[in-house]
Amino acid sequence: MKRSILLFLSCFLLGCSAPAAPCEPFLLDAEPPKYFVILDYGHGGFDCGATGVDTGVLESDLNLLIGERTARALEDRGCFVLRTRTGPDALADTKRDDMARRGAILCSDGADCTVSIHMNKFSDRRVKGPMCYFQAGAADGKALAQCVTDALCAALGRDPRFANPGNNYVTRIPDVPSVLIECGFLSNPEDERKLQDPDYQALLAGAIADGVLAFLSSRPAQ
Ligand SMILES: [Zn+2]
Repeated sequence: MKRSILLFLSCFLLGCSAPAAPCEPFLLDAEPPKYFVILDYGHGGFDCGATGVDTGVLESDLNLLIGERTARALEDRGCFVLRTRTGPDALADTKRDDMARRGAILCSDGADCTVSIHMNKFSDRRVKGPMCYFQAGAADGKALAQCVTDALCAALGRDPRFANPGNNYVTRIPDVPSVLIECGFLSNPEDERKLQDPDYQALLAGAIADGVLAFLSSRPAQ
């Protein structure tokens, strides 16, 4: 939360020096954000990630669409959201530099949790549905990933299942609970079609926000 407090302070100071002081009414009425969540939309630009087998849809585009819906769902419920990207481009010209910049954003001071959005692909085209990964050995990350898994299962009418331990760059965030969400399989015909449906994207985004907030609200005040 430290970062959001700084943003409020700088907004206030700018408001004092600017003639129109556009921030003042907002400051008087608004509650401070409840939580600081970092959202990472995987890939982008030259790195499109997986591609849909039937339609050629790009993972990087779906990550942005579903990620932005998730961001707005969290903001509507009182969170401050920092994105690793806000458009279709990568964060740098090479994968190495892109990941370094992504990692620096994910390690921003004061975050309550980080959430990375991706799409899956697998050789067996029957495999479908979302999966959540946490950093193996990270208890907080495991709890976050399980809350998101539970919320997704409830929203989609799937049987309960466990979140998956893993070892991913975007879940190795020191001292911050982190989850990597694979929203569905671009190798499965049903998933590939549904992941491009705005209503299904909204359903996924709402469930991810539900799971993140269930986790954050269950923790003692930081
Ligand atoms: Zn990916």
